[in-house]
Amino acid sequence: MQIKNEVLKNAEQRQPVLVQHFQNVIKHRELAHAYLFAGPSGSGKAELAMWIAMRLFCINVQDGEPCGVCEECQRITAHEHPDVVIVEPDGNAIKVDQVRFLKAEFSKSGVEGSRKVFIVAGTETMTASAANSLLKFLEEPAGDMTALLLTTNPQLVLPTVISRTQVIEMQPLSEDQVRVQFSRVGLPADLIGLTLQLTHDPNEVADWLVDDWLQQAVASVWQWFSQVAKPDLNAFVLVSTTLVPLAKDRPHQRLLLDMMLSGFRDLLMTNVADKKFTPRFAKHDKELAILASQYNETNLLEITDLGLQSKQLLERNVNFQNIAESLTLQVIDRLSEAIT
Ligand SMILES: [Zn+2]
Repeated sequence: MQIKNEVLKNAEQRQPVLVQHFQNVIKHRELAHAYLFAGPSGSGKAELAMWIAMRLFCINVQDGEPCGVCEECQRITAHEHPDVVIVEPDGNAIKVDQVRFLKAEFSKSGVEGSRKVFIVAGTETMTASAANSLLKFLEEPAGDMTALLLTTNPQLVLPTVISRTQVIEMQPLSEDQVRVQFSRVGLPADLIGLTLQLTHDPNEVADWLVDDWLQQAVASVWQWFSQVAKPDLNAFVLVSTTLVPLAKDRPHQRLLLDMMLSGFRDLLMTNVADKKFTPRFAKHDKELAILASQYNETNLLEITDLGLQSKQLLERNVNFQNIAESLTLQVIDRLSEAIT
């Protein structure tokens, strides 16, 4: 019985064709010394790179596949293999000292053998001079080196880098693949519809699921939304008591606001859509129908518009609590007028 490695499983499920391709390439000893994997977040770039690293170091390759469990595979999975050098952006970008580290590593041969693999995520975040300083290593690799550069945005990668690598375009996952991957990272089935509106990146969803953040966020947003849509002023207090504690940084604030807008959209669509419509807050469809029946399309378009204005304020760095409280008051104001 073989316990499969999660990283390998992700690579095989997200990019089956490319895994097959690299199986053949490595079997025929035709691996190039530098690749650029270009594809959207969640398309499996890092997973494919890790698959290749394991394939090259695994001591128990079977049918062209790394085993995922031997000491080599495990050290690679844990980012602890001395000859698999992994660099990821520190914050928003790859920093100068990371590039210095990369250059030093490029000029050394492998610690345990001659082989060495470099995996560089966020290649487009390197400054032009940093990227240029790596060119000679990409051009004349010393020994048995393989550089796997990853990017979500090949337009921002220097042409000089692109010309020295083999570019592999990764297709985004289909919606069905995304659904499968969402389940695999542990997303409850009733949250898949809503989450698909927020991201297609299973790795991101895995982060949101840590400490049940996403589950709490969906429950809190619904609680707020069901009050604001009544309209009930109780929603105002809920902003500071339940939403603000979840809004720990900009990305999470953006998500919360997007979920809040999903509620407005559900309300509008419940009123205007044909029968096929499935609300993002799917399990509350009956409550949505009751709430929506109080308003006409114009009322609901108005509050959707208020929501969009709130998003713009967030991008201009206005404080989340102020935005959410002011949105709450404005929506309650409009909806109260609509009812009387
Ligand atoms: Zn192995």
